[in-house]
Amino acid sequence: TSTTTTTNTTAAAVSNNNETSGTKIDEIKSTVKSQRVATHSHIKGLGLNSDGTANVIGDGLVGQTKAREASGIVAELIRSKKMAGKALLMAGPPGTGKTALALAIAQDLGSKVPFCPMVGSEVYSTEVKKTEILMENFRRSIGLRVKETKEVYEGEVTEITPEETDNPLGGYGKTIASVVVGLKTTKGTKQLKLDPTIYEAIQKERITPGDVIYIEANSGSVKRVGRSDFYATEHDLEAEEYVPLPKGEVFKKKDIIQDVTLHDLDLANAKPQGGQDIMSMMGQMMKPKKTEITEKLRLEINKIVNRYIEQGVAELVPGVLFIDEVHMLDIECFSYLNKALESTLAPIVIFATNRGNCEIKGTDIVSPHGIPVDLLDRLMIIRTLPYSFNEIVQILTIRATVEAHKIEDDALQYLAEIGDKSSLRYAIQLLTPSAILSRTNGRPSITKDDIEEVNSLFSDAKTSAKLLEENKSKYLY
Ligand code: ATP
Repeated sequence: TSTTTTTNTTAAAVSNNNETSGTKIDEIKSTVKSQRVATHSHIKGLGLNSDGTANVIGDGLVGQTKAREASGIVAELIRSKKMAGKALLMAGPPGTGKTALALAIAQDLGSKVPFCPMVGSEVYSTEVKKTEILMENFRRSIGLRVKETKEVYEGEVTEITPEETDNPLGGYGKTIASVVVGLKTTKGTKQLKLDPTIYEAIQKERITPGDVIYIEANSGSVKRVGRSDFYATEHDLEAEEYVPLPKGEVFKKKDIIQDVTLHDLDLANAKPQGGQDIMSMMGQMMKPKKTEITEKLRLEINKIVNRYIEQGVAELVPGVLFIDEVHMLDIECFSYLNKALESTLAPIVIFATNRGNCEIKGTDIVSPHGIPVDLLDRLMIIRTLPYSFNEIVQILTIRATVEAHKIEDDALQYLAEIGDKSSLRYAIQLLTPSAILSRTNGRPSITKDDIEEVNSLFSDAKTSAKLLEENKSKYLY
């Protein structure tokens, strides 16, 4: 499964009740499948020279020079818009850098190009349709770069007066209904009556009279408040809760660039999923209703995105959708993908497989890599090869440096031997546990003993399978 991280990204979103004034600017959380990318944090690009040849080591990548040079050509085809309707397939044994290369292609295309990794088996869920999951990942891989003009109110706080009201849910106590903020600006002192969420932000930021603050506004509504500069604050205030500011009092305008994905836009306009517990039900009562991500909502968002693009306010940034273990997809998914690849809003799709001929799921047809021939026809195929012992040493050295682990030379050699026998991924995985062990034992760096001990505690896939086979009679079949 993937984790979702939140960055404080702001962008344009559809506002259901604001069609007349065009689009409303909303606060959007950018969702990135960060966990799966974390093991590739040492990879910064394809490591190619200007003539397209690969250095043995470059941008964090080691060896695999043919595949990297081929990837460089694909990146060039993408840049010159010659990959439309086509896709790429990385074929090679496990742990030979297929994901790493796909990520490197995305990085080669630009630092803000979205990279969305998924595994074929992810499409199988009891609750969500397979095509829905594919669609969501498609939209995670399409970026939108939005240029926005922000209105900024800047001034020294003269007063902060919360206004209380009876608890709207009944019961005891009072709640804050609004807050009056006095702001001394270059144009004199103003009193702004602001929303209770702004009061929360003020408390969180520990803003007191005398502080210079910035209030970010858009379309005449307060969006955020912050002490130093609004970019530094982390308050996500709901668009619907913004309070109108007096017209004609903008003191500064700033143009800023924001990167989001189409999925971020979908999510920002969708109802929070599930949550039948009392707290989230209360949360929903307090917040204005939003809609679920439906086909209709997506079409609506596409319409607005297209309008933004036409107006020159936004630019589309097609990213990379990486689908590992492509043989896990079934015929229904393949026909969906065939169609989706034709769309104008399609990312670059990179498949990966370590299978040869196998059955296409959902049929009894055997096909190369378990992929139907009509899709195979659209594919450019890059092969990745197993690493040499020295290459494994180099990759482990890079990983150890990135993870800030000190490792002794014989320990590194021993770990590389393990990687050579099992897999590079397994050897990389042993690094952190070994570091923990060495620290627990009060050692400044990882020793061969640490690796030996950790390796005796865990099994790589091959050893595990062998043990199961040898002790068949002791297991249930
Ligand atoms: P699988 O088929 O099991 O999905 P894979 O071919 O996608 O495997 P990766 O996940 O890309 O393999 O590689 C395993 C680990 O080794 C990752 O941490 C990756 O960053 C690193 N790695 C792989 N190849 C290289 C390389 N050429 N240079 C540097 N690091 C690499």
